[in-house]
Amino acid sequence: MTVYEAPGRAGSVVEYADRYDHWIGGERVPPAEGQYFENPSPVTGQTFTEVARGTAADVERALDAAHAAAPAWGRTSVAERALVLNRIADRVEANLEKLAVAETWDNGKPVRECLAADLPLVVDHLRYFAGVVRAQEGGISQIDDDTVAYHFHEPLGVVGQIIPWNFPLLMAIWKLAPALAAGNAVVLKPAEQTPASIMLLMDLIGDLLPPGVVNVVNGFGAEAGKPLAANPRIRKIAFTGETTTGRLIMQYASQNLIPVTLELGGKSPNVFFDDVAAARDDFYDKALEGFTMFALNQGEVCTCPSRALIQSGVYDTFLGDALDRTKAVKQGNPLDTETMIGAQASNDQLEKILSYIDIGKKEGAKLLTGGERADLGGELSGGYYVNPTVFEGDNSMRIFQEEIFGPVVSVTRFDHPDDALKIANDTLYGLGAGVWSRDIHLAYRMGRGIQAGRVWTNNYHSYPAHAAFGGYKSSGIGRENHAMMLDHYQQTKNLLVSY
Ligand code: NAD
Repeated sequence: MTVYEAPGRAGSVVEYADRYDHWIGGERVPPAEGQYFENPSPVTGQTFTEVARGTAADVERALDAAHAAAPAWGRTSVAERALVLNRIADRVEANLEKLAVAETWDNGKPVRECLAADLPLVVDHLRYFAGVVRAQEGGISQIDDDTVAYHFHEPLGVVGQIIPWNFPLLMAIWKLAPALAAGNAVVLKPAEQTPASIMLLMDLIGDLLPPGVVNVVNGFGAEAGKPLAANPRIRKIAFTGETTTGRLIMQYASQNLIPVTLELGGKSPNVFFDDVAAARDDFYDKALEGFTMFALNQGEVCTCPSRALIQSGVYDTFLGDALDRTKAVKQGNPLDTETMIGAQASNDQLEKILSYIDIGKKEGAKLLTGGERADLGGELSGGYYVNPTVFEGDNSMRIFQEEIFGPVVSVTRFDHPDDALKIANDTLYGLGAGVWSRDIHLAYRMGRGIQAGRVWTNNYHSYPAHAAFGGYKSSGIGRENHAMMLDHYQQTKNLLVSY
Protein backbone atom coordinates (compact mmCIF):
# COMPACT_ATOMS: atom_id res chain seq x y z
CA MET A 1 0.00 0.00 0.00
CA THR A 2 1.21 3.50 -0.88
CA VAL A 3 -0.38 6.78 0.07
CA TYR A 4 0.94 9.45 -2.27
CA GLU A 5 1.68 12.86 -0.84
CA ALA A 6 -0.65 15.60 -2.07
CA PRO A 7 0.80 17.92 -4.75
CA GLY A 8 2.51 20.93 -3.27
CA ARG A 9 3.60 19.06 -0.11
CA ALA A 10 7.13 17.89 0.68
CA GLY A 11 7.77 14.50 -0.91
CA SER A 12 5.06 14.80 -3.58
CA VAL A 13 5.90 13.51 -7.06
CA VAL A 14 3.89 16.42 -8.55
CA GLU A 15 4.62 20.10 -8.50
CA TYR A 16 1.58 21.98 -9.81
CA ALA A 17 2.13 25.62 -10.76
CA ASP A 18 0.03 28.27 -8.96
CA ARG A 19 -1.35 29.39 -12.31
CA TYR A 20 -1.87 27.89 -15.78
CA ASP A 21 -2.28 29.80 -19.03
CA HIS A 22 -3.28 28.43 -22.42
CA TRP A 23 -0.89 26.34 -24.53
CA ILE A 24 -0.62 28.04 -27.91
CA GLY A 25 2.10 27.78 -30.58
CA GLY A 26 4.23 25.57 -28.35
CA GLU A 27 4.26 27.81 -25.28
CA ARG A 28 2.23 29.06 -22.36
CA VAL A 29 0.17 32.06 -23.43
CA PRO A 30 -1.78 34.21 -20.92
CA PRO A 31 -5.47 34.87 -21.62
CA ALA A 32 -6.16 37.87 -23.88
CA GLU A 33 -8.55 39.35 -21.32
CA GLY A 34 -6.33 38.52 -18.34
CA GLN A 35 -8.98 36.51 -16.47
CA TYR A 36 -8.35 33.30 -14.49
CA PHE A 37 -10.65 30.92 -12.61
CA GLU A 38 -10.00 28.83 -9.51
CA ASN A 39 -9.46 25.10 -9.81
CA PRO A 40 -10.21 23.11 -6.64
CA SER A 41 -9.14 19.53 -5.96
CA PRO A 42 -12.16 17.26 -5.39
CA VAL A 43 -10.03 15.33 -2.88
CA THR A 44 -10.21 18.18 -0.34
CA GLY A 45 -12.38 20.84 -1.97
CA GLN A 46 -9.45 23.29 -1.70
CA THR A 47 -8.26 25.41 -4.64
CA PHE A 48 -4.75 24.39 -5.73
CA THR A 49 -4.23 26.39 -8.91
CA GLU A 50 -5.89 28.94 -11.14
CA VAL A 51 -6.39 28.56 -14.84
CA ALA A 52 -6.80 30.89 -17.83
CA ARG A 53 -10.41 31.81 -18.54
CA GLY A 54 -10.39 31.70 -22.32
CA THR A 55 -12.50 33.77 -24.69
CA ALA A 56 -13.03 34.03 -28.45
CA ALA A 57 -9.82 36.06 -28.77
CA ASP A 58 -7.79 33.17 -27.31
CA VAL A 59 -9.51 30.69 -29.63
CA GLU A 60 -8.54 32.89 -32.61
CA ARG A 61 -4.90 32.99 -31.44
CA ALA A 62 -4.88 29.22 -31.09
CA LEU A 63 -6.40 28.86 -34.56
CA ASP A 64 -3.76 31.21 -35.99
CA ALA A 65 -1.05 28.96 -34.51
CA ALA A 66 -2.79 25.79 -35.71
CA HIS A 67 -3.22 27.15 -39.25
CA ALA A 68 0.42 28.19 -39.36
CA ALA A 69 1.51 24.68 -38.32
CA ALA A 70 -1.01 22.54 -40.23
CA PRO A 71 0.46 22.57 -43.78
CA ALA A 72 3.95 21.41 -42.75
CA TRP A 73 2.60 18.86 -40.26
CA GLY A 74 0.18 17.51 -42.86
CA ARG A 75 3.10 16.96 -45.26
CA THR A 76 5.25 15.00 -42.79
CA SER A 77 5.66 11.33 -43.56
CA VAL A 78 3.51 8.87 -41.64
CA ALA A 79 6.74 7.41 -40.28
CA GLU A 80 7.63 10.78 -38.78
CA ARG A 81 4.21 11.29 -37.23
CA ALA A 82 4.26 7.76 -35.83
CA LEU A 83 7.64 8.49 -34.30
CA VAL A 84 6.30 11.62 -32.58
CA LEU A 85 3.32 9.69 -31.15
CA ASN A 86 5.63 6.96 -29.88
CA ARG A 87 7.89 9.54 -28.28
CA ILE A 88 4.91 11.09 -26.52
CA ALA A 89 3.95 7.60 -25.30
CA ASP A 90 7.52 7.10 -24.00
CA ARG A 91 7.36 10.42 -22.16
CA VAL A 92 4.03 9.52 -20.58
CA GLU A 93 5.41 6.16 -19.51
CA ALA A 94 8.47 7.79 -18.00
CA ASN A 95 6.20 10.11 -15.98
CA LEU A 96 3.44 7.65 -15.15
CA GLU A 97 3.41 8.21 -11.38
CA LYS A 98 3.57 11.97 -11.73
CA LEU A 99 0.68 12.08 -14.21
CA ALA A 100 -1.34 9.59 -12.15
CA VAL A 101 -1.10 11.69 -8.99
CA ALA A 102 -1.75 14.87 -10.99
CA GLU A 103 -4.90 13.35 -12.50
CA THR A 104 -6.13 12.12 -9.12
CA TRP A 105 -5.63 15.53 -7.57
CA ASP A 106 -7.44 17.34 -10.38
CA ASN A 107 -10.28 14.83 -10.89
CA GLY A 108 -10.71 12.95 -7.60
CA LYS A 109 -10.42 9.46 -9.11
CA PRO A 110 -8.41 6.75 -7.29
CA VAL A 111 -4.72 6.82 -8.13
CA ARG A 112 -4.80 3.02 -8.58
CA GLU A 113 -7.13 3.49 -11.56
CA CYS A 114 -4.83 6.10 -13.08
CA LEU A 115 -1.81 3.82 -12.63
CA ALA A 116 -3.47 0.60 -13.75
CA ALA A 117 -5.97 1.74 -16.38
CA ASP A 118 -6.17 5.38 -17.51
CA LEU A 119 -2.49 6.02 -18.18
CA PRO A 120 -1.61 2.60 -19.63
CA LEU A 121 -4.55 3.21 -22.00
CA VAL A 122 -3.18 6.65 -22.85
CA VAL A 123 0.12 5.01 -23.81
CA ASP A 124 -1.62 2.23 -25.71
CA HIS A 125 -3.80 4.58 -27.77
CA LEU A 126 -0.77 6.64 -28.76
CA ARG A 127 1.15 3.54 -29.84
CA TYR A 128 -1.89 2.04 -31.56
CA PHE A 129 -2.46 5.05 -33.81
CA ALA A 130 1.29 5.34 -34.41
CA GLY A 131 1.03 1.77 -35.74
CA VAL A 132 -2.20 1.77 -37.73
CA VAL A 133 -1.40 4.96 -39.61
CA ARG A 134 1.66 3.23 -41.06
CA ALA A 135 -0.43 0.30 -42.21
CA GLN A 136 -3.01 2.48 -43.92
CA GLU A 137 -2.98 2.10 -47.67
CA GLY A 138 -4.38 4.18 -50.47
CA GLY A 139 -5.69 2.53 -53.60
CA ILE A 140 -4.97 2.41 -57.30
CA SER A 141 -7.62 1.31 -59.79
CA GLN A 142 -7.22 0.94 -63.49
CA ILE A 143 -10.14 2.74 -65.15
CA ASP A 144 -9.31 1.86 -68.77
CA ASP A 145 -6.22 1.14 -70.82
CA ASP A 146 -4.96 4.72 -70.51
CA THR A 147 -6.44 5.92 -67.25
CA VAL A 148 -5.61 5.21 -63.63
CA ALA A 149 -7.34 6.40 -60.42
CA TYR A 150 -5.18 7.06 -57.36
CA HIS A 151 -6.72 7.44 -53.92
CA PHE A 152 -4.84 9.48 -51.33
CA HIS A 153 -5.56 10.13 -47.64
CA GLU A 154 -5.23 13.81 -46.82
CA PRO A 155 -5.63 15.43 -43.40
CA LEU A 156 -8.64 17.68 -42.84
CA GLY A 157 -6.39 20.54 -41.72
CA VAL A 158 -7.25 22.22 -38.40
CA VAL A 159 -9.74 20.44 -36.14
CA GLY A 160 -11.45 21.39 -32.88
CA GLN A 161 -11.82 19.00 -29.96
CA ILE A 162 -13.83 19.51 -26.77
CA ILE A 163 -13.65 17.06 -23.87
CA PRO A 164 -15.35 16.40 -20.50
CA TRP A 165 -13.92 16.01 -17.00
CA ASN A 166 -14.35 12.33 -16.20
CA PHE A 167 -11.13 10.97 -17.81
CA PRO A 168 -9.23 14.17 -18.61
CA LEU A 169 -5.95 12.70 -19.88
CA LEU A 170 -7.50 9.67 -21.56
CA MET A 171 -10.22 11.72 -23.28
CA ALA A 172 -7.55 14.15 -24.53
CA ILE A 173 -5.43 11.33 -25.99
CA TRP A 174 -8.44 9.44 -27.44
CA LYS A 175 -8.98 12.52 -29.54
CA LEU A 176 -5.43 13.77 -30.11
CA ALA A 177 -3.81 10.48 -31.14
CA PRO A 178 -5.89 9.74 -34.28
CA ALA A 179 -6.09 13.42 -35.28
CA LEU A 180 -2.31 13.82 -35.11
CA ALA A 181 -1.62 10.46 -36.75
CA ALA A 182 -3.81 11.57 -39.66
CA GLY A 183 -1.77 14.78 -40.00
CA ASN A 184 -4.11 17.41 -38.54
CA ALA A 185 -3.34 20.35 -36.25
CA VAL A 186 -5.62 20.63 -33.22
CA VAL A 187 -7.19 23.17 -30.89
CA LEU A 188 -8.35 21.31 -27.79
CA LYS A 189 -10.58 22.65 -25.03
CA PRO A 190 -10.43 20.71 -21.75
CA ALA A 191 -13.33 20.75 -19.29
CA GLU A 192 -13.23 23.69 -16.90
CA GLN A 193 -13.45 21.28 -13.94
CA THR A 194 -10.24 19.40 -14.86
CA PRO A 195 -7.79 21.50 -16.88
CA ALA A 196 -4.67 21.11 -14.71
CA SER A 197 -3.44 17.59 -15.49
CA ILE A 198 -3.67 18.35 -19.23
CA MET A 199 -1.58 21.49 -18.77
CA LEU A 200 0.99 19.43 -16.86
CA LEU A 201 0.98 16.95 -19.76
CA MET A 202 1.61 19.79 -22.24
CA ASP A 203 4.57 20.97 -20.13
CA LEU A 204 5.94 17.41 -20.30
CA ILE A 205 5.42 16.70 -24.01
CA GLY A 206 5.41 20.18 -25.56
CA ASP A 207 8.97 19.90 -26.92
CA LEU A 208 8.09 16.72 -28.85
CA LEU A 209 5.64 18.47 -31.18
CA PRO A 210 6.24 21.22 -33.73
CA PRO A 211 4.82 24.48 -32.28
CA GLY A 212 1.15 24.97 -33.12
CA VAL A 213 0.33 21.35 -33.91
CA VAL A 214 -1.45 20.96 -30.54
CA ASN A 215 -2.97 24.02 -28.88
CA VAL A 216 -4.97 24.02 -25.67
CA VAL A 217 -7.46 26.77 -24.82
CA ASN A 218 -8.85 26.62 -21.29
CA GLY A 219 -12.12 28.02 -20.07
CA PHE A 220 -15.84 27.55 -19.87
CA GLY A 221 -18.16 26.03 -22.47
CA ALA A 222 -20.04 29.17 -23.47
CA GLU A 223 -16.95 31.42 -23.43
CA ALA A 224 -14.23 29.22 -24.98
CA GLY A 225 -16.02 26.08 -26.22
CA LYS A 226 -18.64 27.77 -28.36
CA PRO A 227 -16.23 30.12 -30.20
CA LEU A 228 -14.20 27.03 -31.08
CA ALA A 229 -17.08 24.72 -32.08
CA ALA A 230 -18.85 27.45 -34.09
CA ASN A 231 -15.67 28.68 -35.78
CA PRO A 232 -15.53 28.66 -39.58
CA ARG A 233 -11.75 28.06 -39.39
CA ILE A 234 -12.05 24.44 -38.23
CA ARG A 235 -12.65 21.53 -40.60
CA LYS A 236 -14.19 19.20 -37.98
CA ILE A 237 -15.41 19.30 -34.40
CA ALA A 238 -15.06 16.25 -32.13
CA PHE A 239 -16.99 16.50 -28.89
CA THR A 240 -17.48 14.37 -25.81
CA GLY A 241 -19.95 15.49 -23.18
CA GLU A 242 -23.62 15.72 -22.38
CA THR A 243 -26.32 14.98 -24.92
CA THR A 244 -27.82 18.46 -24.47
CA THR A 245 -24.46 20.09 -25.27
CA GLY A 246 -24.02 17.69 -28.19
CA ARG A 247 -27.20 19.08 -29.78
CA LEU A 248 -25.73 22.60 -29.60
CA ILE A 249 -22.44 21.45 -31.09
CA MET A 250 -24.28 19.95 -34.04
CA GLN A 251 -26.15 23.21 -34.59
CA TYR A 252 -22.90 25.19 -34.61
CA ALA A 253 -21.27 22.70 -36.99
CA SER A 254 -24.22 22.84 -39.37
CA GLN A 255 -23.55 26.55 -39.94
CA ASN A 256 -20.10 25.69 -41.26
CA LEU A 257 -21.06 22.38 -42.87
CA ILE A 258 -18.34 20.47 -41.07
CA PRO A 259 -18.42 16.89 -39.76
CA VAL A 260 -19.02 16.18 -36.08
CA THR A 261 -18.15 13.27 -33.87
CA LEU A 262 -20.35 13.21 -30.78
CA GLU A 263 -19.69 10.93 -27.81
CA LEU A 264 -22.58 11.64 -25.46
CA GLY A 265 -24.44 10.32 -22.44
CA GLY A 266 -25.71 6.87 -21.53
CA LYS A 267 -27.97 4.83 -19.26
CA SER A 268 -26.44 1.43 -19.79
CA PRO A 269 -28.27 -1.78 -18.84
CA ASN A 270 -26.35 -4.62 -17.18
CA VAL A 271 -28.33 -7.84 -17.65
CA PHE A 272 -27.84 -10.86 -15.37
CA PHE A 273 -29.50 -14.17 -16.33
CA ASP A 274 -30.47 -16.94 -13.90
CA ASP A 275 -27.61 -19.19 -14.91
CA VAL A 276 -24.96 -16.83 -13.52
CA ALA A 277 -25.60 -18.49 -10.13
CA ALA A 278 -25.54 -22.07 -11.45
CA ALA A 279 -22.33 -22.51 -9.44
CA ARG A 280 -20.45 -20.45 -6.88
CA ASP A 281 -17.39 -20.29 -9.07
CA ASP A 282 -15.13 -17.75 -10.77
CA PHE A 283 -17.84 -16.94 -13.29
CA TYR A 284 -20.29 -16.01 -10.51
CA ASP A 285 -17.58 -13.96 -8.84
CA LYS A 286 -16.90 -12.11 -12.09
CA ALA A 287 -20.61 -11.39 -12.53
CA LEU A 288 -20.79 -9.90 -9.02
CA GLU A 289 -17.80 -7.76 -9.82
CA GLY A 290 -19.55 -6.79 -13.05
CA PHE A 291 -22.47 -5.51 -10.97
CA THR A 292 -20.17 -3.26 -8.90
CA MET A 293 -18.81 -1.63 -12.08
CA PHE A 294 -21.48 1.07 -11.60
CA ALA A 295 -19.18 2.54 -8.96
CA LEU A 296 -16.01 2.46 -11.08
CA ASN A 297 -14.62 5.96 -11.51
CA GLN A 298 -17.32 7.05 -8.99
CA GLY A 299 -19.93 6.26 -11.64
CA GLU A 300 -18.59 9.10 -13.77
CA VAL A 301 -18.34 6.97 -16.86
CA CYS A 302 -20.53 7.49 -19.92
CA THR A 303 -21.04 3.71 -20.04
CA CYS A 304 -21.72 3.38 -16.30
CA PRO A 305 -23.93 0.26 -15.94
CA SER A 306 -26.49 2.34 -14.08
CA ARG A 307 -29.42 -0.04 -14.65
CA ALA A 308 -29.09 -3.64 -13.41
CA LEU A 309 -31.65 -6.10 -14.82
CA ILE A 310 -31.70 -9.36 -12.85
CA GLN A 311 -33.72 -12.45 -13.83
CA SER A 312 -36.36 -13.54 -11.30
CA GLY A 313 -34.96 -17.00 -10.53
CA VAL A 314 -31.72 -15.59 -9.20
CA TYR A 315 -32.93 -12.15 -8.17
CA ASP A 316 -32.83 -12.45 -4.37
CA THR A 317 -29.63 -14.45 -4.18
CA PHE A 318 -27.72 -12.41 -6.72
CA LEU A 319 -28.89 -9.07 -5.40
CA GLY A 320 -28.02 -10.05 -1.82
CA ASP A 321 -24.50 -11.07 -2.83
CA ALA A 322 -24.15 -8.00 -5.08
CA LEU A 323 -25.06 -5.72 -2.16
CA ASP A 324 -22.44 -7.38 0.04
CA ARG A 325 -19.90 -6.91 -2.73
CA THR A 326 -20.89 -3.25 -3.16
CA LYS A 327 -20.46 -2.56 0.55
CA ALA A 328 -16.98 -4.08 0.40
CA VAL A 329 -15.75 -1.73 -2.32
CA LYS A 330 -13.22 0.45 -0.51
CA GLN A 331 -13.96 4.14 -0.50
CA GLY A 332 -11.29 6.49 0.79
CA ASN A 333 -8.42 8.84 0.10
CA PRO A 334 -7.95 8.76 -3.68
CA LEU A 335 -4.19 9.07 -3.21
CA ASP A 336 -4.14 5.73 -1.36
CA THR A 337 -3.43 2.88 -3.79
CA GLU A 338 -5.92 0.64 -1.94
CA THR A 339 -8.84 3.01 -2.54
CA MET A 340 -11.31 1.86 -5.17
CA ILE A 341 -13.80 4.76 -5.00
CA GLY A 342 -12.59 8.33 -4.72
CA ALA A 343 -14.23 11.73 -4.97
CA GLN A 344 -16.76 13.05 -7.51
CA ALA A 345 -15.09 15.47 -9.90
CA SER A 346 -16.83 18.65 -8.74
CA ASN A 347 -19.15 20.06 -6.12
CA ASP A 348 -21.82 20.61 -8.81
CA GLN A 349 -21.64 16.94 -9.73
CA LEU A 350 -21.88 15.93 -6.06
CA GLU A 351 -25.00 18.08 -5.68
CA LYS A 352 -26.51 16.64 -8.85
CA ILE A 353 -26.02 13.06 -7.61
CA LEU A 354 -27.49 13.86 -4.18
CA SER A 355 -30.50 15.48 -5.86
CA TYR A 356 -31.09 12.30 -7.92
CA ILE A 357 -30.88 10.21 -4.76
CA ASP A 358 -33.62 12.44 -3.39
CA ILE A 359 -35.66 12.04 -6.59
CA GLY A 360 -35.32 8.24 -6.33
CA LYS A 361 -36.61 8.24 -2.77
CA LYS A 362 -39.51 10.56 -3.64
CA GLU A 363 -40.63 8.52 -6.65
CA GLY A 364 -40.86 5.43 -4.44
CA ALA A 365 -37.70 3.51 -5.32
CA LYS A 366 -36.39 1.39 -2.43
CA LEU A 367 -32.95 2.45 -1.18
CA LEU A 368 -30.96 -0.75 -0.55
CA THR A 369 -27.60 0.75 0.39
CA GLY A 370 -25.73 4.07 0.34
CA GLY A 371 -27.66 7.19 -0.51
CA GLU A 372 -25.57 9.70 1.39
CA ARG A 373 -22.68 12.06 1.11
CA ALA A 374 -19.66 10.37 2.71
CA ASP A 375 -17.59 12.30 5.24
CA LEU A 376 -14.12 10.78 5.18
CA GLY A 377 -12.87 12.97 8.02
CA GLY A 378 -9.83 15.22 8.44
CA GLU A 379 -8.95 17.32 5.42
CA LEU A 380 -11.00 14.99 3.20
CA SER A 381 -14.16 16.35 4.89
CA GLY A 382 -14.26 19.14 2.33
CA GLY A 383 -14.00 16.66 -0.59
CA TYR A 384 -16.85 15.49 -2.79
CA TYR A 385 -17.62 11.91 -1.70
CA VAL A 386 -20.82 9.88 -2.16
CA ASN A 387 -21.50 6.34 -0.89
CA PRO A 388 -22.11 3.76 -3.63
CA THR A 389 -25.88 3.64 -3.84
CA VAL A 390 -28.27 0.86 -4.91
CA PHE A 391 -31.97 1.49 -5.58
CA GLU A 392 -34.64 -1.05 -6.45
CA GLY A 393 -37.48 0.16 -8.64
CA ASP A 394 -39.11 0.28 -12.02
CA ASN A 395 -37.68 1.25 -15.42
CA SER A 396 -40.21 4.06 -15.84
CA MET A 397 -38.69 5.99 -12.91
CA ARG A 398 -36.47 8.99 -13.53
CA ILE A 399 -33.51 7.30 -11.81
CA PHE A 400 -33.77 4.56 -14.48
CA GLN A 401 -34.20 6.97 -17.38
CA GLU A 402 -31.93 9.97 -16.69
CA GLU A 403 -28.16 9.98 -16.60
CA ILE A 404 -26.99 10.56 -13.01
CA PHE A 405 -23.26 10.18 -13.68
CA GLY A 406 -22.50 9.02 -10.15
CA PRO A 407 -22.11 5.77 -8.18
CA VAL A 408 -25.82 4.99 -8.30
CA VAL A 409 -27.40 1.86 -9.80
CA SER A 410 -31.11 1.21 -10.21
CA VAL A 411 -32.08 -2.48 -10.06
CA THR A 412 -35.15 -4.19 -11.48
CA ARG A 413 -36.22 -7.75 -12.22
CA PHE A 414 -37.38 -9.56 -15.36
CA ASP A 415 -38.79 -12.99 -16.15
CA HIS A 416 -38.23 -13.75 -19.83
CA PRO A 417 -35.23 -12.70 -22.01
CA ASP A 418 -37.65 -10.80 -24.27
CA ASP A 419 -38.69 -8.71 -21.25
CA ALA A 420 -35.03 -7.96 -20.52
CA LEU A 421 -34.51 -6.82 -24.10
CA LYS A 422 -37.56 -4.58 -23.92
CA ILE A 423 -36.39 -2.94 -20.67
CA ALA A 424 -32.80 -2.66 -21.89
CA ASN A 425 -33.93 -0.79 -25.01
CA ASP A 426 -36.52 1.35 -23.23
CA THR A 427 -34.19 4.37 -22.99
CA LEU A 428 -33.19 7.38 -25.05
CA TYR A 429 -29.61 6.22 -24.91
CA GLY A 430 -27.61 3.48 -26.58
CA LEU A 431 -23.97 3.68 -25.56
CA GLY A 432 -23.00 0.59 -23.55
CA ALA A 433 -24.54 -2.56 -22.11
CA GLY A 434 -23.52 -5.70 -20.23
CA VAL A 435 -24.84 -9.23 -20.64
CA TRP A 436 -23.99 -12.03 -18.20
CA SER A 437 -24.86 -15.65 -18.98
CA ARG A 438 -23.11 -19.01 -19.25
CA ASP A 439 -25.34 -19.72 -22.25
CA ILE A 440 -23.36 -18.10 -25.03
CA HIS A 441 -26.26 -18.40 -27.50
CA LEU A 442 -28.55 -16.48 -25.18
CA ALA A 443 -25.82 -13.91 -24.53
CA TYR A 444 -25.20 -13.53 -28.26
CA ARG A 445 -28.91 -12.99 -29.03
CA MET A 446 -29.16 -10.37 -26.28
CA GLY A 447 -25.99 -8.67 -27.45
CA ARG A 448 -27.31 -8.41 -31.00
CA GLY A 449 -30.71 -7.20 -29.81
CA ILE A 450 -29.58 -4.45 -27.48
CA GLN A 451 -29.45 -1.10 -29.26
CA ALA A 452 -26.04 0.06 -28.08
CA GLY A 453 -22.66 0.64 -29.69
CA ARG A 454 -20.77 -1.54 -27.19
CA VAL A 455 -22.15 -4.67 -25.51
CA TRP A 456 -19.75 -6.25 -23.05
CA THR A 457 -20.51 -9.96 -22.78
CA ASN A 458 -19.37 -11.60 -19.55
CA ASN A 459 -17.08 -8.66 -18.85
CA TYR A 460 -17.51 -4.91 -18.43
CA HIS A 461 -15.58 -1.66 -18.75
CA SER A 462 -12.66 -2.56 -20.97
CA TYR A 463 -11.64 -0.04 -23.63
CA PRO A 464 -9.05 -1.52 -25.98
CA ALA A 465 -7.75 0.89 -28.60
CA HIS A 466 -8.65 -1.49 -31.43
CA ALA A 467 -12.36 -1.90 -30.52
CA ALA A 468 -14.70 0.70 -32.03
CA PHE A 469 -16.59 2.70 -29.42
CA GLY A 470 -19.61 4.99 -29.76
CA GLY A 471 -23.31 5.43 -29.35
CA TYR A 472 -26.65 4.47 -30.87
CA LYS A 473 -29.68 6.78 -30.49
CA SER A 474 -29.04 9.87 -28.31
CA SER A 475 -25.64 8.59 -27.20
CA GLY A 476 -23.82 10.01 -30.16
CA ILE A 477 -22.74 10.06 -33.76
CA GLY A 478 -19.61 8.40 -35.09
CA ARG A 479 -17.09 6.15 -33.41
CA GLU A 480 -13.85 6.54 -31.53
CA ASN A 481 -10.87 4.21 -31.24
CA HIS A 482 -10.17 1.51 -33.87
CA ALA A 483 -8.36 2.17 -37.15
CA MET A 484 -11.64 3.47 -38.62
CA MET A 485 -11.01 6.67 -36.60
CA LEU A 486 -8.41 7.72 -39.13
CA ASP A 487 -11.19 8.07 -41.70
CA HIS A 488 -12.92 10.58 -39.40
CA TYR A 489 -9.84 12.78 -39.53
CA GLN A 490 -9.00 12.49 -43.21
CA GLN A 491 -10.48 13.21 -46.56
CA THR A 492 -9.97 11.21 -49.69
CA LYS A 493 -8.30 12.74 -52.72
CA ASN A 494 -8.89 11.00 -55.99
CA LEU A 495 -6.48 11.70 -58.82
CA LEU A 496 -7.81 10.41 -62.12
CA VAL A 497 -4.91 10.36 -64.55
CA SER A 498 -4.86 9.60 -68.26
CA TYR A 499 -1.46 8.62 -69.59
P1 NAD B 1 -20.70 18.98 -20.81
O1 NAD B 1 -21.43 18.76 -22.08
O2 NAD B 1 -21.29 19.87 -19.80
O3 NAD B 1 -19.25 19.55 -21.09
C1 NAD B 1 -18.34 18.89 -21.94
C2 NAD B 1 -17.42 19.91 -22.55
O4 NAD B 1 -18.18 20.77 -23.38
C3 NAD B 1 -16.71 20.81 -21.55
O5 NAD B 1 -15.40 21.04 -22.00
C4 NAD B 1 -17.53 22.09 -21.60
O6 NAD B 1 -16.81 23.23 -21.24
C5 NAD B 1 -17.92 22.12 -23.06
N1 NAD B 1 -19.12 22.89 -23.36
C6 NAD B 1 -20.21 23.10 -22.58
N2 NAD B 1 -21.11 23.88 -23.23
C7 NAD B 1 -20.59 24.16 -24.45
C8 NAD B 1 -21.03 24.90 -25.57
N3 NAD B 1 -22.21 25.53 -25.57
N4 NAD B 1 -20.25 24.96 -26.65
C9 NAD B 1 -19.07 24.32 -26.69
N5 NAD B 1 -18.57 23.62 -25.65
C10 NAD B 1 -19.33 23.53 -24.54
O7 NAD B 1 -20.43 17.52 -20.23
P2 NAD B 1 -19.68 17.16 -18.88
O8 NAD B 1 -20.62 17.39 -17.76
O9 NAD B 1 -18.34 17.82 -18.84
O10 NAD B 1 -19.38 15.61 -19.08
C11 NAD B 1 -20.24 14.62 -18.68
C12 NAD B 1 -20.97 14.05 -19.88
O11 NAD B 1 -20.05 13.52 -20.82
C13 NAD B 1 -21.88 12.92 -19.53
O12 NAD B 1 -23.12 13.08 -20.15
C14 NAD B 1 -21.17 11.70 -20.10
O13 NAD B 1 -22.00 10.62 -20.40
C15 NAD B 1 -20.49 12.26 -21.29
N6 NAD B 1 -19.37 11.42 -21.70
C16 NAD B 1 -19.50 10.67 -22.83
C17 NAD B 1 -18.46 9.84 -23.23
C18 NAD B 1 -18.60 9.01 -24.47
O14 NAD B 1 -17.58 8.54 -24.96
N7 NAD B 1 -19.79 8.82 -25.00
C19 NAD B 1 -17.28 9.80 -22.51
C20 NAD B 1 -17.18 10.58 -21.37
C21 NAD B 1 -18.23 11.41 -20.97
